[in-house]
Amino acid sequence: MDPRAQLLSWIELDVDALRHNLQLFRQRTPERTRLLLVVKANAYGHGLDPVVRASGAHVDAFGVHTIDEARAVRDAGWRGSLLIMGHVAHARAEEICALAAEPTVFDLATLRHLDAIALRRRIRIDCHLKVETGTHRQGADAEELAAMLEFFSRSAGVRLRGLSTHFANIEDTTDHDYAKAQLEAFRAIASEVERRGFRDLTRHTACTAAALTLPETCYEMIRLGIGAYGIWPSRETLASTRALGRGNDDLRPVLSWRTRITQLKWAPKGSYVGYGLTHRCTHDTRLAVLPIGYSDGYPRALSGVAHVLVGARRAPVLGRICMNITLCDVTDCGEVALEDEVVLLGAQGDETVGADRIAAWGGTIPYEILARLAPHTPRFPRVNQNPAEDRPT
Ligand SMILES: *Cc1c(COP(=O)(O)O)cnc(C)c1O
Repeated sequence: MDPRAQLLSWIELDVDALRHNLQLFRQRTPERTRLLLVVKANAYGHGLDPVVRASGAHVDAFGVHTIDEARAVRDAGWRGSLLIMGHVAHARAEEICALAAEPTVFDLATLRHLDAIALRRRIRIDCHLKVETGTHRQGADAEELAAMLEFFSRSAGVRLRGLSTHFANIEDTTDHDYAKAQLEAFRAIASEVERRGFRDLTRHTACTAAALTLPETCYEMIRLGIGAYGIWPSRETLASTRALGRGNDDLRPVLSWRTRITQLKWAPKGSYVGYGLTHRCTHDTRLAVLPIGYSDGYPRALSGVAHVLVGARRAPVLGRICMNITLCDVTDCGEVALEDEVVLLGAQGDETVGADRIAAWGGTIPYEILARLAPHTPRFPRVNQNPAEDRPT
C-alpha cells in the first residue's frame, strides 16, 4: 500500500528537481567554484536527512547553523566537508572534533577556546574566519580581525582554512552597489590575509542571489540555499537574473505539501465559519475541513486570504486558520470526497501555489514559510516521479 494513504498531511520532495537545480548552479558558476549546500532549518523545511541523502553525490560540502544540525548531517551519512556557520556554545565546542566539522569564527575568545581544545586533544581544528564588510551581523571587525590573524599565525591548534562574508542587500534590490562595495571590502581583506602568509584559503561570500547576479562573488565556493530548493530569493533577484539574459523559468521547486479532507459539510448562506465569526457565507457553501493549521506551519496570517488546491481547482480558505484545522470552500471544486488529496503548497493539474505566493499572502518571504514547516510532518523523497520508489523518512 502507498504509505501516504495512511497520512493526513505529508511533504513530498522532487529529488530530480533538487538535482536539476544543483546542476544548474554548477553550470552557472565558475569551474573552480565548489558548491556548499545550506541545510540549516531542517534543509529549509524540506527535511535535513532526505536532502543530505539525495544530494550528497552532487555537492562538495554542506553548511549548517548549529552543532545539532552538524550531527544530523553526519547521521545522514555525509563524510565530506561540513561547515558550521553559527556560533557553537563553548561548553559544546569539543563536539566539533568528533564531527570533523569546520567552525566559522568571528571572535578571538572563541578562537582561543577552540585552540585550547585542539592542543589538548593533539589535533588541529580547521576554521573559517568570517569578516565584517557591512552587514553588521556575525563577522570580525578590523580590530578583531587583526588580533585573530595574529593568533592564527602563532597557534598550532587552529588553522585558517576559509575566509567568508555575507551580503546585506542583495535579495532586496536590483541595485547592487552596496553588495559591490562589500565585495570590494572583502577583496581588500582577502589580499591582506594572503599578504600575511595564509595560503590556499577557501574564500566564500555568495548566497543564491549573489551567485545568480554577481558571478565575481563566487570565489572558491558558494553557499547555496534557497535556489537549490527551486525557489527564487525574491522578485528582485529574478529581475536581476533576467536582466543578465539568463533563463527565468529554470529553477524547479522541490517541495510540495499535501493534506486530506477530513470532513465535508454544507454551511447555509448567512452562516458563520470558524473562530471569531470572521467569515459569513454569501452563498450555500460546501465546506471542507483540513486537518492542518498554524502548528504545522500553515501561517495564521493566511486566514481568509489564501487558497488551496482541490480537484486541481482553487478552494478559498475561509475564516480563521486554527492550530490544527483549516476550513476551505470547495463549492466550485467539482466532485469532492472525504479523504481526497488537497495541495497546500505545490501543483495540482494546471494550478500551482508556490512558496512565494504563500509568503506574499502572509506578508513574509518564502524562506520563512519553508523554514517553519513543522518537522513532525513526514517527508517523502520522490525519484523520477515514480510512486513505487516513495518511502517515508
Ligand atoms: C542561509 C545562508 C546562506 C544561504 O542563503 P540563500 O539565500 O538561501 O542562498 C548563505 N550564507 C549564510 C551565512 C547563510 O546564513
